[in-house]
Amino acid sequence: MVEAMLQDLFDDVVERNPGEGEFHQAVREVFDSLGPAVRKHPEYAEASIVRRMCEPERQLMFRVPWVDDAGEVRINRGFRVEFNSALGPFKGGLRFHPSVYLGTVKFLGFEQTFKNALTGLPIGGGKGGSDFDPKGCSEGEVMRFCQSFMTELYRHIGEHTDVPAGDTGVGRREIGYLFGQYKRITNRYESGVLTGKGLGWGGSQVRTEATGYGLAFFVQEMLGAAGTSLDGRRVVVSGSGNVSIHTIEKVHQLGGTVVACSDSSGFVVDEQGIDLDLLRQVKEVERGRIADYADRRYGAELGRGGSIWDVACDVALPCATQNELDADAARALVGNGCRFVAEGANMPTTPEAIDVLHDAGVRFGPGKAANAGGVATSALEMQQNASRASWTFEKTEQRLEGIMRDIHTLCLTTADAYDLPGNYADGANIAGFTQVADAMLALGVV
Ligand code: GLU
Repeated sequence: MVEAMLQDLFDDVVERNPGEGEFHQAVREVFDSLGPAVRKHPEYAEASIVRRMCEPERQLMFRVPWVDDAGEVRINRGFRVEFNSALGPFKGGLRFHPSVYLGTVKFLGFEQTFKNALTGLPIGGGKGGSDFDPKGCSEGEVMRFCQSFMTELYRHIGEHTDVPAGDTGVGRREIGYLFGQYKRITNRYESGVLTGKGLGWGGSQVRTEATGYGLAFFVQEMLGAAGTSLDGRRVVVSGSGNVSIHTIEKVHQLGGTVVACSDSSGFVVDEQGIDLDLLRQVKEVERGRIADYADRRYGAELGRGGSIWDVACDVALPCATQNELDADAARALVGNGCRFVAEGANMPTTPEAIDVLHDAGVRFGPGKAANAGGVATSALEMQQNASRASWTFEKTEQRLEGIMRDIHTLCLTTADAYDLPGNYADGANIAGFTQVADAMLALGVV
């Protein structure tokens, strides 16, 4: 009965959002967990909570014109999907990548709503971005693009309304240009309107590190709950951007060894453990390729054939992009003895791969729980901005660690309460969902 209702609702979502495969996938994945929660709370169905949750409160799509260094006018498309504000102002990053379209932003905004609920902090869910490709653009081009993007976006955001941050392709540099333009247009130094700011102009300690550090803390909890620890573990981390780099750093601090990482051009295996200084030099300073790392590091090898998921490990952490870990990759991981997978990226594991992992008894930490440290620290940045305070690195990191521990506990206790012991995915979906659903019920039909 409940399953049939969820299936009808899902069919409706597919029909009303044609061609948005990632959004359908994200909704399906949450719906697959919701049966027990909806059965237990008939009031959710009566108030059409699930149906309302699938419809963003507001969706913005706009033209972003800018002039490149050659004097040509270029046009990109900008998006902001304000998904759900039952728990607080819309909150979520901006992604600049040529593959971005409305479906990407919707899937990310949907996920964000539940992720943000899991942090226990007062933030709703949203996401934005553009099909702009910063790769190969000059500093001036990136700035002009950001200014044009904000020239439209500014009228829709605000510290109590909608608070964007970074995501793929948007880091501190872009947040700086966006904030500068917001400040200029509005004539307000409204620090809380964006997070991921620089430390000298309203940013928070640990925000840059937070997604990666938070993931490592979450994984430490997962291993602890299984009676083991990161100490001496072989870990594979895909990607080599901000999330991957800080995941590697914290995993090493916690005693694990990261033996492989990657970028869109390939992967590298380094049995001595990834040399972070060199990785940073290659990826962040030179903006080069992972092959340059392999060339310059004695004993490191560039992967030939196969994928990073063929590298034997105890713990696998997909931190690159959506759907990067499919069923074949999951089978390879299981075959090589991997016991733990946790998502640093948003939805990097396909539904079929999650089934393979669960069937093999691998503990799987879904992104909406495992990578929530980034947005949680954004909420801490908002707290500091609101009170005009700046916390120390130690205090902020301690708060982050505590939040990740609480999210981990919440996933497991919720899974237990619904008789799904050890199922982090169901635990995270149900806990995030009920948090948002209860607030929506309290706020009436809005
Ligand atoms: N883009 C990050 C995420 O996927 C962080 C968003 C934020 O800090 O608002 O959660």
